[in-house]
Amino acid sequence: MSGAFRFCPQCATPLELVTLAEDGGAKERLRCAACGYTHWNNPTPVLAAIIEYQGKVLLAQNAAWPGKMFALITGFMEAGETPQAGMAREIEEETSLTTSELNLIGVYDFQRMNQIIIAYHAVCHGEVKLSPELVDYRLFALEDVKCWRAGTGHALAQWLRSRGHEPQFVDFPKRS
Ligand SMILES: [Zn+2]
Repeated sequence: MSGAFRFCPQCATPLELVTLAEDGGAKERLRCAACGYTHWNNPTPVLAAIIEYQGKVLLAQNAAWPGKMFALITGFMEAGETPQAGMAREIEEETSLTTSELNLIGVYDFQRMNQIIIAYHAVCHGEVKLSPELVDYRLFALEDVKCWRAGTGHALAQWLRSRGHEPQFVDFPKRS
């Protein structure tokens, strides 16, 4: 289990790994013996956009990533907004583009990151201006887009198929 979440957010007591009897059977959970807080570790929803811009797919390179990986625009929802509003906001924050059409592609698990990906196809307009989080972007013709075999890659593959393109897959780059 990840060491990232070690202390109780309510009283700062170190959390203990305990086995709880739950409706779905016994499960290991991080729990605070002092106040009873339980860290459920439920997956976090992540919004992801396949941006269609000038008839091509816009993929961007994140400053925090190793190598030359170009990927969908992703982001977290804010409290009090719909997924659609959150997606349009993330696109605007990261690329400066305006979204005129947003279509849900599907919902995909990404268990390695304990995330659930809510993927949209977004038709966007305007002038691209990247946020400091992104270092570069490229526009790909649909037949040139490559998908990795996890998370957002499955969303991209499904969307390409819906547009009549058999997706090409590529292995996720190894972390150095
Ligand atoms: Zn506590």
